[in-house]
Amino acid sequence: MPGEFELIRRHFSRGVQHTDLGVGDDGALLRTRPGMQLVVSSDMLVAGTHFFPDAEPEALGWKTAAVNISDMAAMAAEPRWITLALALPASDDKWVGAFADGFAECCAAFGVDWIGGDTTRGPLNLCATVFGEVPHGQAVLRNGARLGDDLWISGTPGFAALGLQHLLGNIVLAEEARAVCLSALHRPQPRVALGLALCGVATAMLDVSDGLLGDLAHILEQSDCGASIEDVLLPLAPVTSASGDEGLARRALLGGGDDYELLFAAPLAQRQVVLDISQQLGLPLTRIGVMTEKSNVIATKKRDGSIETVSAQGYDHFESDS
Ligand code: ADP
Ligand code: MG
Repeated sequence: MPGEFELIRRHFSRGVQHTDLGVGDDGALLRTRPGMQLVVSSDMLVAGTHFFPDAEPEALGWKTAAVNISDMAAMAAEPRWITLALALPASDDKWVGAFADGFAECCAAFGVDWIGGDTTRGPLNLCATVFGEVPHGQAVLRNGARLGDDLWISGTPGFAALGLQHLLGNIVLAEEARAVCLSALHRPQPRVALGLALCGVATAMLDVSDGLLGDLAHILEQSDCGASIEDVLLPLAPVTSASGDEGLARRALLGGGDDYELLFAAPLAQRQVVLDISQQLGLPLTRIGVMTEKSNVIATKKRDGSIETVSAQGYDHFESDS
């Protein structure tokens, strides 16, 4: 494999648009704009846990950047800079080049300068740190939801989880659905424009990486609220498996992760504003329920009128992974 410095020179030095000093020195130099707060977040992708070791490198590069940039969207921040620390087994120049292309493509798509990182030999491991800016005091946190707020979700969550179940051989998707689901899984679209538009509108927000109900639990805990959801409102992915499983899209939406849609609460008085944002962005925003008094369960009203409850405690990666 080419040496570390050769890899950096060939693949990781892509130039910068709004950075005083990027790759090449001991550190990068950034300048935040006046009146802005710096927002920082890291996300690590580990082979075998977050992706298949034989995953297509360009898509993997895209996803490594995308899942990080998504965290900026979830704060209502503008993503500005990113660093990439990676451990590579003795892997080929072609793989690294394709990976770097995908990473750089996602950065460019969202106006993010790739300003540095670290490169070392080891079991394949990808860790990025993203830096964004938000007007002072305007970040949308997880703790601001209030009783009576509407609960909203962007897009059509569930495609990525269905793609994963297909790859695992648990379901068989028809060809058309397969393309949509695998693209959602491999090339998630961080909702940056939506996050920015929701600044001053949403009272609490996060990006759904572990499944809607599991992630909703974080908002409930930090906002000291409960939530109830209505099945008739859910924007189900228009997909059934070859075996015709009706509940599949519902399970994928409520329990599946990896779509990186934004889940947020907003006051009733902002309902029209949210719908206008949806129109402007050409992105479905769906009201799926309401924030309630604190409760230890999340209640979902099913189509037949019965109520299903799940724990509002969420779950832990180390406990839920089998
Ligand atoms: P040092 O030994 O001073 O830590 P390195 O040799 O690790 O420096 O890195 C040299 C330069 O290359 C630094 O500017 C660093 O940010 C950059 N760099 C290293 N790895 C990456 C990477 N994966 N992506 C982007 N820049 C990188
Ligand atoms: Mg270093």
